[in-house]
Amino acid sequence: MSEKVLSCPKDGNALSLVYESEKIGNVVKISIYYKCPTCGYRKDLEKLEVQRGEQLLAVKKFTRPPQ
Ligand SMILES: [Zn+2]
Repeated sequence: MSEKVLSCPKDGNALSLVYESEKIGNVVKISIYYKCPTCGYRKDLEKLEVQRGEQLLAVKKFTRPPQ
């Protein structure tokens, strides 16, 4: 089984997958993106917003198709 490795369009290095979460009030924003460790090139993959209420959990999902 081979995993597809994306390479940086600028310098050809392998991109690493990064998960990043940021909490603002009761909303947690999660970003999933590829990043080049060498030049810092970033390619957004998915963005999620999780909102915590009293009894509900709302999730907004933003998916961008590969460009
Ligand atoms: Zn790069």
